[in-house]
Amino acid sequence: MSILVTNNLVKHYGKGETKVKALNGVSIEIERDTFTAIVGTSGSGKSTLLNIIGGLDNPTSGDVIIKGKNISKIGKKDLTVFRRRNIGFIFQEFNLIDNITVGENIAIPLTLSQKLGTKEIREKTVEYAKRLGIEEVVDKYPNECSGGQRQRAAIARALVNNPSIIVADEPTGNLDSKNSHELLKILKELNSKEGKTIVMVTHDSMIASYCERILLIKDGKIEGNLEREDLSQKEFFYKIVDMT
Ligand code: ADP
Ligand code: MG
Repeated sequence: MSILVTNNLVKHYGKGETKVKALNGVSIEIERDTFTAIVGTSGSGKSTLLNIIGGLDNPTSGDVIIKGKNISKIGKKDLTVFRRRNIGFIFQEFNLIDNITVGENIAIPLTLSQKLGTKEIREKTVEYAKRLGIEEVVDKYPNECSGGQRQRAAIARALVNNPSIIVADEPTGNLDSKNSHELLKILKELNSKEGKTIVMVTHDSMIASYCERILLIKDGKIEGNLEREDLSQKEFFYKIVDMT
């Protein structure tokens, strides 16, 4: 069974003259333990799709089914809890809160779920900071960190609740090429070693060629589906460039 399914997702912003049709019937299936890239030009509907998949926004019509649960049909409170347990988000702008420390940022999902005491929260925070190689900045503020460190902190925050699905919206968009490659290495390992299901949005074919499957979105519709299969990364890259 697919871990994530969307049925005919439609999303319209605004009304009348100013109405924008951001998604025009998107039906996709994502298998467990896979690393998928959604590619498309700016304005094609990538972020809209990701936000709806992750329960951050509601579709105008259509359904999102995660682990067999139709999240378009559950109440707001239940959705928040479901999302926190099952989905980790990584954003292009990192979305760290500036006036709390890196460690406090990482701990946000733990604090919200109210299951652990202060000591356990600290232990888990340090554990994830260590895993991402940013232990030395746990007690610093985001503006005292490099871009790469901030994105690692954002990843630690996305992982700290151990979600099975990670959605990442242009996670390399604000990173230089060295940090981009390191980030991709981290994501690839999370997928191959820990079986995380990852859906990553990018407009960069090179970045996409790290994934095993590519979905192309154009004007709010899925217009292409490529599987890497036994292609080398270079061959896959050229295939993606060809398709886009
Ligand atoms: P992408 O992430 O591929 O660049 P988006 O999903 O952000 O594309 O946007 C798809 C379309 O929806 C664009 O035309 C964009 O201007 C529009 N859009 C996105 N968010 C909003 C919003 N909150 N209000 C109105 N229009 C929006
Ligand atoms: Mg976007």
